[in-house]
Amino acid sequence: MIRRPPRSTPLYSSAASDVYKRQMKERARFAPSPTGPLHIGGVRTALFNYLIAKKNGGEFILRIEDTDTDRTVEGAEEYIIESLKWLGLTPDKKPYKQSERKEIYLKHVDLLVENGQAYHCFDTMEELKRAKEKHGNDFKYRHDKNFGLKNTFTISKEEADSLIAKGEFVIRMVVPSNETIKVKDEIRGNLSFNSNELEDKIILKSDKMPTYHLANVVDDNDMKITSVVRGEEWLSSLPFHILLYKYFSWAPPKFFHLPLILKTEGQGKLSKRDAEQQGFPVFPIAWKDSIGFREQGFLPEGLINYLALLGWSNESDKEKYTLKELVAGFDSNRIQKSGARFDIKKATWINHLHIQDCSPKKIIELCEGQTATAFSRFGKKLEEIIDLIKERLNLLSDIQKEIGVFMHEPSDYDQKVLQKLNQPETLIILNFCKLHVGSSEEGSVIKEGLFNSSAENKISFGQTMKTLRLALAGSLKGPDLFKMIEIIGAEETIKRINKLTKTLKP
Ligand code: GLU
Repeated sequence: MIRRPPRSTPLYSSAASDVYKRQMKERARFAPSPTGPLHIGGVRTALFNYLIAKKNGGEFILRIEDTDTDRTVEGAEEYIIESLKWLGLTPDKKPYKQSERKEIYLKHVDLLVENGQAYHCFDTMEELKRAKEKHGNDFKYRHDKNFGLKNTFTISKEEADSLIAKGEFVIRMVVPSNETIKVKDEIRGNLSFNSNELEDKIILKSDKMPTYHLANVVDDNDMKITSVVRGEEWLSSLPFHILLYKYFSWAPPKFFHLPLILKTEGQGKLSKRDAEQQGFPVFPIAWKDSIGFREQGFLPEGLINYLALLGWSNESDKEKYTLKELVAGFDSNRIQKSGARFDIKKATWINHLHIQDCSPKKIIELCEGQTATAFSRFGKKLEEIIDLIKERLNLLSDIQKEIGVFMHEPSDYDQKVLQKLNQPETLIILNFCKLHVGSSEEGSVIKEGLFNSSAENKISFGQTMKTLRLALAGSLKGPDLFKMIEIIGAEETIKRINKLTKTLKP
């Protein structure tokens, strides 16, 4: 026999609370579960929450959803906080922690039970397993289907009371039959869910901790959240949340379900493995043995800027945005529905643009670990060097490679260039280069001298420059030649010219 507990409050939200919510300050929350490090998708969710809140002069809240104690990973909460700090996405309040709010959830569960909108279930794992095996695909835990389950609808009050007293139960929410649950998603438009396809979800577990669904809705209401911004994987939870809002007579917030971040090529969500295969991380900062974007040489400004463009199309062709400009320019109506492919080349390019905004001093500070030891020999000249190589930096870590030409002679020459330049006049060029470098310390004087000598010997100035560059840098790439000569000095320059001379004519 199916017995339905009494219901005393209306199911649906009141118009008065809608009006109240509309007058409220915008408030968005990032609500990660500390089950591991933040994936780049999580970072983008945090960012879009931040942008939506700040665009409307509102608050950005961090809520740690740690009610699933079995899945909580040590250090993950601190990691999330540290990552947001590095990214510059500072929450406006001290983070909330769900594990500290247990009493609030229990009160709300009681209310639902009193109103007949939730009920106690006593099935053991074994009994549930058997029911699933017996009813196969038809099986969905429901209060109104007689699958031989054990709950307050199907057993006597005495038996139920005694099991409740022993604490051997979970609580599920009632999902009504034959209802279409309608909700608007700000990105996807109007959505509807057939309630017959849903099961009565657990809202309180046997350890008496609330599940995500209950805690999430209670908190979003309690914290006056106006926009719920999260990944599209939470779409299937939405009808349960909408029902809970109705049961509590609360007006739901706006919902934004963000599209997935996809692999660079091929199908599906970007995984850590896909990223690592292409040589880039998926975490913002290092986690255990895995490096993050920070360690890879990204500036937080670069990463944030790229992620904002991923899944959001701005009106102009503008690529480079500071966080402030993003807040000002952000338009949530332009968030795309379809998944966005992660393109590390574009991310690196955007990072390059942000590095160009940094003074050499700032770059040195940011690379403290690298620069302090290895580059201390340059002393005051280090800033000059960074200024010279800055335009060639895509990642901060590129400094190691780019600064090499100032640190040591080329260990090798670009063989193609070497073959091409191996002509009779090359030795003439190298000779007059030596002469001019030896007679002045000033780049502009040396340049003029080389120009004149090239003309006198009927050699193109371009040819001279290439030859000198090969001698100094080992290839045709590198920073301004004459500035480089000024920094490494005449003695070192002549040493490198001699080395190439010997290589060409042993
Ligand atoms: N705790 C959920 C997560 O880990 C939050 C989903 C939501 O924002 O509602 O992503």
